[in-house]
Amino acid sequence: MKRELITQSTCRWCGEEIADHERDEDRSLHNECAARIVIGSLAHVEERCSCYMPGSTENDPPNMTKREAAIAALKAFKLKQMRTDGQAH
Ligand SMILES: [Zn+2]
Ligand SMILES: [Zn+2]
Repeated sequence: MKRELITQSTCRWCGEEIADHERDEDRSLHNECAARIVIGSLAHVEERCSCYMPGSTENDPPNMTKREAAIAALKAFKLKQMRTDGQAH
């Protein structure tokens, strides 16, 4: 029997279902989750993680789902970029 190529319906990062309009190019991640993998955790974006504070255990907020944390991290990242841009001009 021939194996058919199936488009994955759940996100590789958060495990939640992906609606067609939410897919990034590789079709197995939400846009936000794809961004989260690149930009790091919410704590990392907010510079509270162990990269900035030795010994810190801050990561994604434990009260958020992976998806929610990805959305929050992306939002914080965009805010940070806006602030940085503001300083540069
Ligand atoms: Zn996802
Ligand atoms: Zn970090």
